[in-house]
Amino acid sequence: MDCIFCKIVKGEIPSKKVLENEKFLAFYDINPIAPIHVLIIPKEHYEKFNDTPNELFSEMAAFIKEVAKALNITDYRLITNNGSNAGQEIFHLHIHLVSNPSGKLKWPKLT
Ligand code: 5GP
Ligand code: ZN
Repeated sequence: MDCIFCKIVKGEIPSKKVLENEKFLAFYDINPIAPIHVLIIPKEHYEKFNDTPNELFSEMAAFIKEVAKALNITDYRLITNNGSNAGQEIFHLHIHLVSNPSGKLKWPKLT
């Protein structure tokens, strides 16, 4: 059974796309925690950061920089929740890109 993000990749669940290429997709988070909140995923399913081949991140980094350019932002934060105690709810690797173009993002205590 496909996970929810695999369904988004296949277009079986709609999403508001920012950018895509043959390997990666960027789309807006349905429940944003910042003025800009985009999720960046590989189209191939990996459960989480720790399970993802190291080689993928070089290409993914280049894609993320393209996403920032497409969003017309220079300042942003990247987050990946690796495992349920780290806050991961969807087990298909995703990197959160969050940004506040009109001010600073908070850096809260997490415990
Ligand atoms: P996690 O907690 O796994 O790091 O983050 C999962 C993120 O996926 C959450 O920020 C949540 O709002 C987002 N999300 C969950 N379901 C959907 C969906 O169907 N569409 C979109 N665009 N985002 C989703
Ligand atoms: Zn998946």
